[in-house]
Amino acid sequence: MTKTEINQLRKSLIEQQSEMMGSVGRHGVAATSGSESLADENERADRVADEMIESQLGYAESQQLKGIAIALEKIDAGEYGVCEDCKKEIYIERLKALPHVALCIDCQSKKEKVAAGMF
Ligand SMILES: [Zn+2]
Repeated sequence: MTKTEINQLRKSLIEQQSEMMGSVGRHGVAATSGSESLADENERADRVADEMIESQLGYAESQQLKGIAIALEKIDAGEYGVCEDCKKEIYIERLKALPHVALCIDCQSKKEKVAAGMF
């Protein structure tokens, strides 16, 4: 994945995020404004925000929102788009469809087969 692709993905994730946030009617809940001194306060606020989002957006959407936040964190940490299992690059098409996906398609299908008792 090239830097340009990552930047495009990042931008579209931020857009999705603010769209979803907008529909909740809150501002800056997931903003990574770096005030580290208030870590506990922030954590508590995050949790409250999580609950609010969950009650207003529904489970699936709030999970999606969390996934986007995780994806953005990984992008910023420079760890994005690599399979957590085999460390190979995940196809960009897959990342576009499932931005917070942690496994490549091979590892994912292996895992699903194991879960289904096929191994
Ligand atoms: Zn993999």
